[in-house]
Amino acid sequence: MQAAVALFVEDARSVPIVDAAKKLGLKFSGNRHEHPQPCPQCGGSDTFAFNTAKNKWNCRAGGAGGNDGIGMAAHCEGLDLHRRAHFLEACAIVLGQPIPDEAEQESAEERSRSLRRIEQRRRQNETNAAGKSGTQLEFRERERQRARAIYDAAAPVGKYGRPVADYLAARGCGEISSSRWLRYASSLAYWHGQDERGHPVALHAGPAMIAPFVDRSLVAIGCHITWLDLACAPKFRPQLFDPASSELLPSKKMRGLKKGGLIPLFGDPSARRWVGGEGIENGAAFACWENWRPDTFYFAAGDLGNLAGPADPASRFVHPVLKTPDAKGVARPLMIAGPIPRPNQDAHDAMWVAQHVTELVLLADGDSERVMTAAAMARARARHARPGRAIPIVWPRPGSDFASMAAEAAKRVA
Ligand SMILES: [Zn+2]
Repeated sequence: MQAAVALFVEDARSVPIVDAAKKLGLKFSGNRHEHPQPCPQCGGSDTFAFNTAKNKWNCRAGGAGGNDGIGMAAHCEGLDLHRRAHFLEACAIVLGQPIPDEAEQESAEERSRSLRRIEQRRRQNETNAAGKSGTQLEFRERERQRARAIYDAAAPVGKYGRPVADYLAARGCGEISSSRWLRYASSLAYWHGQDERGHPVALHAGPAMIAPFVDRSLVAIGCHITWLDLACAPKFRPQLFDPASSELLPSKKMRGLKKGGLIPLFGDPSARRWVGGEGIENGAAFACWENWRPDTFYFAAGDLGNLAGPADPASRFVHPVLKTPDAKGVARPLMIAGPIPRPNQDAHDAMWVAQHVTELVLLADGDSERVMTAAAMARARARHARPGRAIPIVWPRPGSDFASMAAEAAKRVA
């Protein structure tokens, strides 16, 4: 092999996946490091993916994959790496340079055809990406503004907003006289479905508790809405049904952004001790139980995903007992997201916890599936672990949560 060709091949071998993907005009979905898409060679919808952090690619349809740009280029362009001309062509693609030794390469016509195809693919992907991220950004910004408008329009709980205090008291969360964070809307519409003209339908309008999702600078990025019905025990929330399917609808909604944010309940985030779990009622019941400790900030994550963050796929495990039916009704093992956080996470993958927090008490939900919850709580602890920070996990009695335990205890006293 001529020295020039040898050098050329070496250069090509050192091209990382991210650069090779650009040269191949592949799609960057913008979701961190993993970029799934149809395989340029095999088709499909998300059969092909490359990962810029792991420097890997693979094609499920073609059963191929690896950690070099040359192999990826060969697969995408249908080149056979065992043929020297094809191998050099793959090198030329990832380097974006012609092959130094002209003798063995494909005809000039073939080469320019493949370059035209790659250029076309690159432009198409760029156009799609621009359109998609544009609309996604607009949508997210609109949702954020709506969420803020709902929160801003609601009244602070104190002089007004008695129903919020009554609701929390009924749920076993004690008597709060006022709240810096929680608010009250006297008649908030519950939108569900569309009419025949495609306009959203207000299925219900009524009193609601509004809580903000705040980011690290305590700016509201979203809101959490709980519709209230104090006549409707035991949860004191309205029973709303889908008119078409008669299915019971959730009486809580989240608007705007949630991921990465948290719901402040009581106290100040400057506290060194933080206490919270998934839901508002659980956090509030626990706060009441320990009498709203002045050294503590109480919060809710909104849901388990935002509390624990995504799991390392390698830590997935089979549920020891439960099965799940597949499309044909056959019981299959149920896979559970594991206790280890996914590596290389973004800050927004789970709620933020201030650096100065030295004790983070995590409240588990006793009425959710036990194994799944335990794995998620372990993941939350691992994710938020820091030197010098204690993270105890507190469990309610099996089958209940702190709110229902508090409500029962209140009944026994009364
Ligand atoms: Zn393929």
